[in-house]
This record gives sequence, structure tokens and C-alpha cells, in this order.
Amino acid sequence: MSIHLDAGLSRAGDTLPDDFLTYLADYLARFNSCAGFGTKNRSRNVKIESMRDPKGIPVYAVYRAVGGSCPPDCALLDAGCYAQQGNVNIHQKRGNAETFNPVRWALGLPQGALIRWNVSGDVVGADGALYREAIRVSHTLRPDLRGWSYTHAWDRPEILAWAQSLPDNVRIVASLDDPKDKDRAQAMGWRTVAHVVETADGKGYTDPEARETRAGGSLPCPAQRVDVGCADCLACSRDGVIAFAVHGPGQRTARKALAKRRRSEKKERAERSDRFRSLAARRSLPTIGA
Ligand code: SF4
Repeated sequence: MSIHLDAGLSRAGDTLPDDFLTYLADYLARFNSCAGFGTKNRSRNVKIESMRDPKGIPVYAVYRAVGGSCPPDCALLDAGCYAQQGNVNIHQKRGNAETFNPVRWALGLPQGALIRWNVSGDVVGADGALYREAIRVSHTLRPDLRGWSYTHAWDRPEILAWAQSLPDNVRIVASLDDPKDKDRAQAMGWRTVAHVVETADGKGYTDPEARETRAGGSLPCPAQRVDVGCADCLACSRDGVIAFAVHGPGQRTARKALAKRRRSEKKERAERSDRFRSLAARRSLPTIGA
């Protein structure tokens, strides 16, 4: 269910019928039990906030627990996920123990703020549907807020349908384990996709690596190249393909996990094709013999 508020309703001096306010309070209360938390203050994460203007547009962030809110088949889960390392790991663990109301939280943010939804965790799991709806309602009620996030559950039809139902001021990026899935994700309808690439130092790009990535049709994340934060860039909230250098202290584990996933998918494809060939051969035997 969705509600649409006329912006004029919030003007000072307007009066609202009691039953409407009761309805609104009840409606908002349904989002009380979303797992995770939203930051009370603007983010101080150097990758997210503006590197050019520390007093510029503030970014607020949501952290959710890794695991419970993630697709269980994510190749990086417990195998090099950046959110299971460093400071983000501390926040995601806290997110495991807390619940919050994302809509109330968003309604309290300053005019024009940016929201980085689920810096850790994802949009699925037990409360996934509620959390997804909360994102939709938040940005519908606050058209001035701009948000973005990523999901590893991009190949689930219900996740795509939800992402496509969102208002223009929030964008969900399909986060791919394998760059080869780029065409498939775009053909499904994802307008912004992200994938990881392996670079020499596993932290960022040299100029030749950046050029090669661009030549392959992907934007090397500027925050991994120059002094730019998401608030300056916002490429992830527009159409396109972003490439992240596998990053974080667990990048070696992540590289191995992604390589393992690619090998097992390749093996699966080969086995499927063998099965198909042998089935086709068996079925064609009588015809050949006739
Ligand atoms: S491409 Fe831009 S918006 Fe996306 S993560 Fe990198 S800096 Fe942030």
C-alpha cells in the first residue's frame, strides 16, 4: 500500500483531520521493526561524503546486518565482503542488534540530504519486503532527498520490479559478482549496474587500469582514483556501469571467492551443455536410424 501526500498539506497553518493523522501514524508504525539503523549525524565516511566541500550536501547512511539481509548465495558472504571488515563491520554488527523505522528516520533528515541505503547488508531477508517498501515510501514522501544503494539480489524478479517502482530520487544498482553478467542485467532492465575488477594493488586504479576499464564500457569508481566522494560524484544514482576495484583488507579472499564462483558457474554451464548434447543425441537416434 502506498500513500501520496500533497506537498501543500505540510504548510504551516494547515489543519489536518484527526482521522487522517491517526491513519498516518498507524501507517508509519508498520515500518518500526526494520533491522539496522540510520545514522543520526552526517556521514564521516571519506568514500561517501564530499571530499571537495566538507560543508556540502550531507550524506546519511543506513547499516544493516550482513548475512540476515543478504542473498545467501552471494559469493562474497563470509568470503571477503568489504562490509565484514574494519569500521563497516562494527556498524553492521550493531545493525544486527537494532531495529529502526527508516521512514521516520528519513522524514527527520535535513532538506536535500543524500541517503546511502544499506552501506552494509542488502534488501532481502526476513524483513526485506518491509525495508524495500520503507525506501519507496521515504523517497515518495520526501522528493527532496536523493538516495542510492546496491543489491546482490539483482536476478530476483521481485527485486527488479521493486527497483523499477521507485521514484526518480532513489536508485538501486545491480551489484554483479561477475562482469560477464552485465549484458544480462541490463537486458533484464537494470539501468545502473556495478561490478568488481581486479587491479594490481587491489585498492584503486593506475591510469592504464582506469583507461582499460573505461574502454570496456565501465566507469572506474572515481572515489578509488582521485579525491572524490560519492556526494561529489553520484554516478551510482544515474544510468551506467560502474567498476569497483576489489577493495578492503579482505580483497584477497574476495578475489578467490569470485574466481571460485566463476569456475563453478563455468563447470555448471559445461555440465548443462553436456547433458543437453547427450539428450539431443539420444532423441535423434531413432530418426537417424529410420
Ligand atoms: S561511482 Fe561515484 S557514486 Fe558510485 S561509489 Fe564511486 S564515487 Fe560513489
